[in-house]
Formats: sequence, structure tokens, C-alpha cells
Amino acid sequence: MLVSGGAGFIGSHLCDHWLAAGCEVTAVDNLSTGRRDNIAHLNGNSRFRFLEHDVCAPFAPPGKFDYVLHLASPASPMDYLRAPLETLAVNSTGTQNMLDIARRDGAAFLHASTSECYGDPLEHPQHEGYWGNVNPVGPRSVYDEAKRFAEALTMAYHREYGVNTHLARLFNTYGPRMKLDDGRVVPAFLAQALQGRALTVFGDGSQTRSFCYVSDVVQGIARLIASGEHFPVNIGGSEELTVLDFARRIQEIVGSACAIEFHELPEDDPLRRRPDISKAKRVLGWRPTVSLAEGLGETIRYFQSRELTLA
Ligand code: NAD
Ligand code: UDP
Repeated sequence: MLVSGGAGFIGSHLCDHWLAAGCEVTAVDNLSTGRRDNIAHLNGNSRFRFLEHDVCAPFAPPGKFDYVLHLASPASPMDYLRAPLETLAVNSTGTQNMLDIARRDGAAFLHASTSECYGDPLEHPQHEGYWGNVNPVGPRSVYDEAKRFAEALTMAYHREYGVNTHLARLFNTYGPRMKLDDGRVVPAFLAQALQGRALTVFGDGSQTRSFCYVSDVVQGIARLIASGEHFPVNIGGSEELTVLDFARRIQEIVGSACAIEFHELPEDDPLRRRPDISKAKRVLGWRPTVSLAEGLGETIRYFQSRELTLA
């Protein structure tokens, strides 16, 4: 198993999953948005190997892989807006390098795609047959269009070379090992609530998101890469909340009397987002199982035990 982005939030959980299943796992990561701390617990595990490397540079990792998971890419809007060219590169050149390894080894390949492929969607909820509404020249395009290109490249390797490829369109995922300061709404609101600061709602907070806990996403990815499905599959939570309601939910769960303050809505911030997961249910027998209260509870415990004391 080769996992690019293996020192990141989702990638490190995928390493854990396959190590627990008895596999050998190689994580490759340039640590641009990921952290050694996410995989520190794997030090000394003889079935785990870490390569610090930028996947945009050609590389031929030793060994033969049965599975190649491509997670490397900045994912938080704050991260990809700060590194627009790196984001375009890792999803184009980086994806091609990872596809070449899968082709070399006859491995199953999975690209971590995103709900951002739907842009600011005009159809709701979003099903995989919807082609999306993306601004190709807006600031977010460095991520949205890069991910759309990566999907096209992946399908081309499948059609031209017969590589066994899979496309997971992940929706907003949260859980332990997110960075407290990566700007995404879950760590941002949790950090603010836990530290008694005001919650920073962008716009009027009427935009919606559907959150999925990381262990459910790992299960969805594991089922998809083992399946015969080559077209995109949505993996995400089905409970849709406005950002303002989410802020209130955080206040309740943390038991914090912190204020809510309103800030400017970022350009092209999608107004509504909820996955239609009927394909994942039908093809993979997958559905989310962890409630928002449970998942946020686990995430809070993680931040309290580590990040808040590290900060
Ligand atoms: P993350 O930032 O925690 O992890 C990404 C990892 O990729 C980091 O460890 C980073 O150092 C590494 N990386 C970036 N560029 C690299 C390069 N050129 N070479 C090697 N490593 C590189 O983000 P995440 O939330 O874990 O997201 C993982 C993947 O899932 C991304 O591809 C993201 O687009 C996708 N995704 C995530 C979400 C979500 O809600 N978390 C939603 C949709 C899609
Ligand atoms: N958001 C917010 N306050 C914050 C961070 C984010 O209101 O401090 C909003 C953001 O504008 C978006 C939603 O929360 O509408 C989800 O943002 P996130 O960055 O987590 O992910 P996105 O879905 O935009 O990729």
C-alpha cells in the first residue's frame, strides 16, 4: 500500500486502517500541510515506512504495491489559496506520477477527489452525474479545476492503459489530526469555542455543509478501492446544516457562552452542499455511521489532549 499525503489528516488515518488490516504501508509526504506528529505513533512499526518527498518530482519507491492511494494536496481553502501553484502541480503532475506507479505495479489506484468538483452547485443535493458549476478563473479554481483535471487524468489512465482506477468525491470531512489553525470551519469553531473566543461566521452563515467523520470516510475509501467502480462516488455526510446552525451546535456541545461574529464571505464560497449518497449505498453498501455529536466529541478530546496544549 502506497499512500501519498500519508502524514496528513485523512491520509494518516488510512495508514492506520491498512496497518491494522496487516498490510505493509508506505506513506509519502512533503510535510507541506501535514505533520510528522500525525504518524509519530507508527515509529517502530516494521510494516510502516515514511518517505519525505514531493510527489511532483518523479520517484520510484522501492517495492511493488497492490494499492496506491493519492491524497497529497492542500485541502483547506486557507492552505490552497496560499499555495496556488503547488496545488495545481500536485493534482496534475503529482497525480500523473502516482498513476504511473499504479500502472508500473498493476495496482488499484484511488484519487481523493472532492465535492468542490461541483463548484457552487445549481443542483441539490449533488449526485455524481451533475457536472458542476465551477468558476474556472476564480481564486478557488486552483483547487476545483485541479481536482477536475485529476479526475480526467485518472479516467484517461483507466481508458488508455486499463489501470484499475477509482475516484472518491469526498465532502467535508472532520476528526482528530486536523490542524487547529488550518482555517477549516470545524477546527476553527472548536478552537474558538474551547478558548472562549468569538466564533467567526463568514457571510450571514446561511451557506450549508454536510460533515462526515473521518472513520466513516476511511471505510468508504476502503470499500471503493476494493470495488469494480471506476466512475466517481460521493462519500460524505447526509445531515446538512447552515454554518450558523453549526456554530450554535458547537456552542452547545462545548458548553461555551462565546459570541458569534460575522465576517466577509470568501469569494465563490459554495452556498449549498450536500451529497446524494445513493450510489455509495448501492455500489459499496456504505453509509455514514458516526453522529455529529459523537464525532465532534472525539475531535474535542483530541484537541484537548494534544493541540490545545501544544499551541
Ligand atoms: P491535509 O492537508 O491534512 O493532507 C494533505 C497531505 O498532502 C499533507 O500531509 C501534505 O503535506 C501532503 N502534500 C501536499 N502536497 C504534497 C506534495 N506535492 N507531495 C507530497 N505530499 C504532499 O488534507 P486532508 O484533509 O487530509 O486531505 C487529503 C486529501 O483529501 C486531499 O487530496 C484533499 O483534496 C482531499 N479531500 C479532503 C476533504 C476534507 O474535508 N478533508 C474533502 C475533499 C477532498
Ligand atoms: N467558515 C466560516 N468560518 C470560518 C471558517 C469557515 O464561516 O472560520 C465557512 C466557510 O465560509 C464555508 C464553510 O464554513 O462556507 C466551510 O468552510 P471550510 O473552509 O471548512 O470548507 P469548504 O467547504 O469551504 O471547503
